Amino acid sequence: TLSSRLDKVFTSLRGRGRLTDADIDATAREIRVALLEADVALPVVRSFVAAIRERARGAEVSTSLNPAQQVIKIVNEELVAVLGGGTTTLRFAKTPPTVILLAGLQGTGKTTLAGKLGRWLKTQGHTPLLVAADLQRPNAVNQLQVVGARAGVEVFAPEPGNGVGDPVRVARDALAHARRQVFDVVLVDTAGRLGVDEEMMRQAADIRDAVSPDEILFVLDAMIGQDAVSTAQAFADGVGFSGVVLTKLDGDARGGAALSVARVTGAPIMFASTGEALEDFDVFHPERMASRILGMGDVLTLIEQAEKAFEVEQAEAMAAKMAASEFTLEDFLEQMLTVRKMGPIGNLLGMLPGMGQIKDQLAQVDDRDLDRVVAIIRSMTPAERQDPKILQASRKARVARGSGVTVTEVNQLLDRFGEARKMMRQMAGGAGLIPGMGRGK
Ligand code: GDP
Ligand code: MG
Repeated sequence: TLSSRLDKVFTSLRGRGRLTDADIDATAREIRVALLEADVALPVVRSFVAAIRERARGAEVSTSLNPAQQVIKIVNEELVAVLGGGTTTLRFAKTPPTVILLAGLQGTGKTTLAGKLGRWLKTQGHTPLLVAADLQRPNAVNQLQVVGARAGVEVFAPEPGNGVGDPVRVARDALAHARRQVFDVVLVDTAGRLGVDEEMMRQAADIRDAVSPDEILFVLDAMIGQDAVSTAQAFADGVGFSGVVLTKLDGDARGGAALSVARVTGAPIMFASTGEALEDFDVFHPERMASRILGMGDVLTLIEQAEKAFEVEQAEAMAAKMAASEFTLEDFLEQMLTVRKMGPIGNLLGMLPGMGQIKDQLAQVDDRDLDRVVAIIRSMTPAERQDPKILQASRKARVARGSGVTVTEVNQLLDRFGEARKMMRQMAGGAGLIPGMGRGK
């Protein structure tokens, strides 16, 4: 994944706040490999990495992030932008019924999607009609009827002996039926082939011309990987489409197809299908897909939190102190409070790249612990905070009483502080406990 790849370049990057050309080269290489691993098409990878490079070069130096984090942030923002920025919803016709045509290769999940979309539209207050315009396979009509029944959505199918074999006529009849009845959305399921072929394209285009859809959704199996670009291109040329639905995202596909298609066609990805069941379906969220492509879970959330919580001067001062090994209990407290501002400590664990060595240490701290630490340090005099060595037995007893803990707990805190200080010394100039903190000068 990208996070583990960048972890490796971390070492060479840390210690400096500014992105050099060499840094950018090193990270660009890793981003390139990560995107290829995620099955993003090569031309898309190239142009995407070029865009990242450009932005990284002109990037403002963020004081609260280290260089690798800055790059990750830029990559994420670009990914989200290419993937559409936010969610994109269906355009409904001013005069119902709204007609939605489903197109795509066979087995991508069009018929399944018809049921999912139908059910979803119902929950949105619509009255959808599913149309069986796939007359290619013997069982296709029946499959849609089963799906429709399960979704609680009516299905329009050709009557035996009437219009059999002519999907254009079925689609036209269905539209007339919807107009007569109360259906306000018509979902047309079409036939697909295993590969792109001319006859299939022509049939889909004929249906399109017969019903003038408000949306044409290109249904794409996310597992298709590198072939996503050529398939999407073929459908864009042959039928055209206004939106994309990604299916089979429950598989181990890394989501590269999403980026490829979004970048090449410019069409928004509207929905995501994540399983065979009707409820395995949601509107498409670009941020989630970006995280999936990066393979880095919540790191980005952490970066945002760090940016919010951390004041620049504070970080600078702290880094300077660490370098000079002047880390005091006061600083320790400040650091604890900053960590606290960033949310429950549990969330932090495992989110920090390159933090393996101190994860265990952090794992021992929970929120209640933190409250106690704050109480204990606040019960100390400034002199004691500055130089804990002066804390003799009677002073410790006073601090313990003042903070409502035992002397043992005061001792534990002092031990922990001693450890932290040691760690800080080792890390001064390296990655800090909190992003941006350990960046030496
Ligand atoms: P169509 O040929 O495009 O109409 O595809 P179908 O709707 O018939 O789906 C083909 C197969 O893929 C069926 O077995 C579906 O149950 C399955 N399928 C559809 N969508 C998904 C999905 O999001 N995840 C998984 N795992 N299977 C899916
Ligand atoms: Mg089908």
